[in-house]
Amino acid sequence: MSAADCLFCRIVAGEIPAKVVHESENVLAFRDINPQAPTHVLVIPREHYPHAAALAAARPEVTAELVAAAGTIAEQEGISEAGYRLLFNTGEQAGQTVFHAHLHVLGGEWLGGLVGGELR
Ligand code: 5GP
Ligand code: ZN
Repeated sequence: MSAADCLFCRIVAGEIPAKVVHESENVLAFRDINPQAPTHVLVIPREHYPHAAALAAARPEVTAELVAAAGTIAEQEGISEAGYRLLFNTGEQAGQTVFHAHLHVLGGEWLGGLVGGELR
């Protein structure tokens, strides 16, 4: 996939606008266009990798930067004490729709889904 075909590469290139909340040399973070919680931010590598495992295999240090950026964003958003969820959807059955690795940061309310090992 070339950058021209990838939505998130186009956001990195500034061709599509996004509400950026954090950026660094390797990482960009912006608000999800269809938020599933009061805070819903996507943290992405500037370089294109199709999913988190491919990113981690090629650039482990950038993968760590994504997680650290998520922590910084949670502080900024005031949700780090209450708690938040980090999520990498990988592949179609998991609901991945954009095939440029991205870390979802979700919080600001009680979150459903897998809680304490049970679906609620
Ligand atoms: P996935 O389902 O692949 O894990 O997550 C893709 C996310 O990207 C979805 O939550 C979706 O709402 C978000 N998204 C899709 N298109 C855009 C866009 O153009 N701008 C922004 N900010 N988010 C987008
Ligand atoms: Zn891309």
